[in-house]
Parts: sequence; C-alpha cells; structure tokens
Amino acid sequence: MGIWERLKSALGGGSSGGSDRDGLYLYVRCGRCGDVVRVRVNLANELQQDFSDSGGISGYALRKVVIDATCFRPMPVDMTFDAGRRELSREIEGGEFVDQEAYEAIRAARSDADEGRAGS
Ligand SMILES: [Zn+2]
Repeated sequence: MGIWERLKSALGGGSSGGSDRDGLYLYVRCGRCGDVVRVRVNLANELQQDFSDSGGISGYALRKVVIDATCFRPMPVDMTFDAGRRELSREIEGGEFVDQEAYEAIRAARSDADEGRAGS
C-alpha cells in the first residue's frame, strides 16, 4: 500500500482520480508575529504564463500575497515554474517558508499557549 493510497483513505476521498492534483500547499511563517499560514495554490488557474522570445510558453510565474490571521501583515510570495508547472524557485518577503511538519508543530504550540492564557 503506497503512501498516496493511505493519504487518500485518511482524507476520506474514495473516488478515482486525485481531486486535488492541481493544488500546491505553501506553509508560511510570519516574520513579525510568528504565526503560520497554510495557503493553497491552484496550479491549473492561478499561474501566469511567461512567454519566450519565440512566442512559446517558457514557464509560469505566481505572485500571491499571504496574510496571517494574527497581525495581518501582507507577505508577498513570488514563485516561478517551468513549462511543466514544476516549481523552480520561491521567495517571500516578511516571512519564511516552512514545511508541513513545522507548520503543524507551530500551530499546536500556539494553540496550547492560547489555552494556557485563557485559563489563567
Ligand atoms: Zn504576523
């Protein structure tokens, strides 16, 4: 049993053909308040085409502003992709990219802290 089958069954999706194969998830940590944000990018319709001099598609670019739910500071994200929509580079201002594990760990730590404050 592959990891994809296990993931799909864990998500409860039983139907054929991955329903979210166009989705790319970005995990961003705000450089000011430390909050983390998960953003879904739709690779099928959010990317802008870059054209080469010959008129063909040379790749894709994405510019997106991520805003966390704590201090609401906009963090502009710039990404580039090749003609096959594979990621080539990513940059962010005002924050940093983290992976899913770090995102979940930070969220768990922050919700613990919130509960602690509410109780005291
Ligand atoms: Zn923030």
